[in-house]
Amino acid sequence: MEKIVGVLLPLPFNDVFDYKVQDDVVLGQIVRVPFGREQQIGVAWKIGKSSNLDNNKIKSVIETFNLPPLQPELMKLVEWTADYNLAYKGLILKMVLCAKGVFEDPKVNILYKLTGKTLAEAKLKNSSARWRVIELLRHGPYSRAEIAKGAGVSQSVIKTMIDVGMLEPLPVKKQKEFLPPKLDFHKVQLTAEQQAAADYLCAKCEAGFSVTLLDGVTGSGKTEVYLEAAAKVLKTGKQVLILVPEISLTTQWLARFEKRFGVKPAKWHSSLSLSERTETWRAVAENRAKVLVGARSALFLPYADLGLIVVDESHDHSFKQEDAVNYQARDIAVVRAKLENIPIVLSTATPDLETIVNVESGKYGCVKLLSRYAAAQMPEIKIIDLKKDKPVKWLPPLKSGKESDNAEQSTPPKPQMSWLAPSLCAALAENLQKGEQSMLFLNRRGYAPLVICRDCGHRIQCPHCTAWLTEHLKSGKLICHHCGYMTNIPKVCPECGSESGLTACGPGVERIAEEVKGRFPEARVEILSSDTASSFNDISAAISRMEKGETDIIIGTQILAKGHHFPALTLVGIVDADLGLMGSDLRAAEQTFQLLSQVSGRAGRAEKKGVVYMQTLYPENAVLKALVDGNREEFVKLEKKSRQTLHLPPYGKLAALIVSGTNVETTSKVAAELAKCAPHGNGVEVLGPAPAPIFMLRGKFRYRLLLKTLRNINIQVILQNWLKTISVPKNVHVEVDINPYSFM
Ligand code: ADP
Ligand code: ZN
Ligand code: ZN
Repeated sequence: MEKIVGVLLPLPFNDVFDYKVQDDVVLGQIVRVPFGREQQIGVAWKIGKSSNLDNNKIKSVIETFNLPPLQPELMKLVEWTADYNLAYKGLILKMVLCAKGVFEDPKVNILYKLTGKTLAEAKLKNSSARWRVIELLRHGPYSRAEIAKGAGVSQSVIKTMIDVGMLEPLPVKKQKEFLPPKLDFHKVQLTAEQQAAADYLCAKCEAGFSVTLLDGVTGSGKTEVYLEAAAKVLKTGKQVLILVPEISLTTQWLARFEKRFGVKPAKWHSSLSLSERTETWRAVAENRAKVLVGARSALFLPYADLGLIVVDESHDHSFKQEDAVNYQARDIAVVRAKLENIPIVLSTATPDLETIVNVESGKYGCVKLLSRYAAAQMPEIKIIDLKKDKPVKWLPPLKSGKESDNAEQSTPPKPQMSWLAPSLCAALAENLQKGEQSMLFLNRRGYAPLVICRDCGHRIQCPHCTAWLTEHLKSGKLICHHCGYMTNIPKVCPECGSESGLTACGPGVERIAEEVKGRFPEARVEILSSDTASSFNDISAAISRMEKGETDIIIGTQILAKGHHFPALTLVGIVDADLGLMGSDLRAAEQTFQLLSQVSGRAGRAEKKGVVYMQTLYPENAVLKALVDGNREEFVKLEKKSRQTLHLPPYGKLAALIVSGTNVETTSKVAAELAKCAPHGNGVEVLGPAPAPIFMLRGKFRYRLLLKTLRNINIQVILQNWLKTISVPKNVHVEVDINPYSFM
């Protein structure tokens, strides 16, 4: 019987398209259909006809895949995510169907086995080479390469034996094995506090949907605790998803998982190869991969039988995606858990205010770990007031003839700008002497964030963005951190031609490293930022050098804040504690508090106590005070108060509209029109349009509007009605960002 199904395609549409099918199709079935002149892979989303097309105009499904159909929970998640974020359902589905290789024929290995035909029957001479092949294949089928190697024969010997019918091919599906975790492989002895937390989580694992905040100070052993909950769920045969902020930074985590469970977990992130993607997607859908650790996109995989979700470092801003589709993965993870009726654990030392408020209202449960594991104590935090303890210039060591490649050789070295206070330098020197490790944190990549000409005042800007170019010495380039534009560092000022005017302004991590190397020539210094270590292997290598004590001073960006455990690290220096507080966006204080707590949390994680130095021009700042006192409660209290009075999240709702286009007139016209028909009324307010702080980005002009509502108002409905009222020309794009994190 011919039927009609509505198929959702991974394209920017909300509606399904009708197709005919011959066989019975179940909801969620993945199908290949004709679409325009091409073919698309989509999902049977609705049974029955949705359009009013003539039946004979409706095309037929080309192929239904022999893959498990998407489960109703996942289909609901797609719908929910799209509705909540005002995104196209098709584009959310695209994240589910993100492994193209799954829809191609699986790769096969051709192995060969004996047919039973003898050499005599095949009229072949008895040669020892042929006998060696026969001997080998008595133990099982092998590929041609394996036979050649194993029997020590040439390919022509094998070919002859195939041609005469002594060997026959045996196609075998290539399938990567995902070994199941060994639940009792290496159980750790939990402390009483950890055990209580693990018991709480394990109890939740038997009771359907729940959200629990695992709120433990840095180094308290949150990972060990939630892995116990994972073990409990794995015992029932269900799957566990662990979301992490940046999978490239999880080398240590992966090693710990392997130590605990004796196998590696499946991994999911953007730099998997095509075949790794395919293998993992299939294994997840067929319940062969039991534990998957992944970046936010792992949330949309078709788990066969999900039993637990853990969001590690749940405060991390990288869970908020701001690319093609805007969404907050931590929140969608909670929704997925609810739809699947399973527990979810949010693990962090610095929960965000949204989560804290949900705990206080009883929506989320909470377990705490108040002390560090074993003998480790929380680090002492000291403020360095840069107004009093001023950095003093330093003299670079004389260059040896070989290193210097210009005439500078003969001139004496010039005193260099310094960014490190004398007291911090002294502490570094002392730590070095003691043979202990230090870390310097500055959340700025490159050498200098700005290059300015002292002769004409020209600042070098990105041609595509409203942003200065950052100088990167290692690569010899000026780079735009917003669009990736790159150009060689000019020798003369592009504006006035001055040969001596160009000056680097301010420090990035490369410049701090230059100073540290200059002051401590004997120290082993390493820079860790996304520029110096771009691949998984680079980062792992740098981290392992640090672990092994091969590095004395590590200097880096926010990469350093992410969960690393360096037992011999006892000194952390925060080069510019004010940096994050300059921004005026609503999460600046919270994010600074989190980032600095996390960086500080790297110090003194073993027997030796750690010290953290924070350089600031504003020692009275409330955020820094709370950090020094280790008083998170106090910070939360202040933060709550300021957001409450302004009705900012979580006490009110926000949505941003970003209007962008290559033509400044049409773009500003759309923004103005949006303002004209902006919603208003009780508890609804629209701010803007205003040119975005980054007015030009990747060659497009941008305007922003901000919709602010009270908490009990359905902001999505208001947005939908608002957007319906205007028509947007093709060359202008209106992007919706629900609960924005970035206001640039
Ligand atoms: P957090 O994630 O809370 O910062 P971790 O889970 O990274 O803390 O734990 C800090 C360190 O202490 C890790 O090296 C971990 O292996 C170790 N650790 C924590 N609890 C235990 C335990 N019960 N037994 C052995 N080692 C532990
Ligand atoms: Zn100039
Ligand atoms: Zn740019």
